[in-house]
Amino acid sequence: MLGPPGAGKGTQARKLAEEFHIPQISTGDIFRKAVQDNTPMGKKAKEYMDSGMLVPDDIVIGIVEERLDQPDVNAGFVLDGFPRTLYQAERLEQILQKKARGIDAVINIRVRRDAIIERFTGRRVCKSCGASYHVKYNPPRRPGLCDACGNELVIRPDDELETVKKRLEEYEQKTAPLIEFYQSRRLLIDIDGDKTIDEVHKSIVDMLRGEEK
Ligand code: ADP
Ligand code: ADP
Ligand code: ZN
Repeated sequence: MLGPPGAGKGTQARKLAEEFHIPQISTGDIFRKAVQDNTPMGKKAKEYMDSGMLVPDDIVIGIVEERLDQPDVNAGFVLDGFPRTLYQAERLEQILQKKARGIDAVINIRVRRDAIIERFTGRRVCKSCGASYHVKYNPPRRPGLCDACGNELVIRPDDELETVKKRLEEYEQKTAPLIEFYQSRRLLIDIDGDKTIDEVHKSIVDMLRGEEK
């Protein structure tokens, strides 16, 4: 899943994972868990996350490489929030090549800038399972509690406006070049993200099923 912060990558990745019965691999979720558990890696990542910067490539790649060694990825997987730099994308190709695997599609969610800010301000995430909600567009059934696991919903510390601005800058500089990278590999699927969550999900599934034929 590719797209600016707040575009809906996590939301859509989760729905795809359910639809295709494959795991969702979210580097952001992995980092937030490590921060919560106060692991050495979490402590390092936190410095970058709090300031809205990308975590250094070697840390991220190590984590993804380890995750892709787990047996549950054999039937496929959704990468959410990775890769985010050209270097990460190149390393991912190498990692998958070694396993005789490849990327089927890169879903690029496009969203208008003013809509993005609104998505950030209403975002609430589950402390425990990482599920993402929105106070207006995707409210949980019980206010403040996760539908999936019942745990508490919180505001992400990096969703504060100043940090969001930095994250959007990081995206433009380091992640946006991946659009061309995957276009040149004929893997890019552009998705209009300015629709409801269910409409966006449907267009992604339609595109993926179309690709299969
Ligand atoms: P969002 O999709 O809203 O930007 P994520 O949960 O994907 O948020 O990421 C949160 C933070 O975790 C990022 O701002 C960055 O600091 C770190 N992070 C997540 N994935 C990566 C990655 N692939 N490379 C570098 N940093 C990452
Ligand atoms: P990302 O992982 O790209 O940072 P999220 O999936 O966390 O983005 O979505 C950001 C916020 O926007 C969340 O509060 C989510 O509930 C909400 N959201 C996601 N998709 C849509 C949509 N199509 N319309 C309205 N709100 C959305
Ligand atoms: Zn939860």
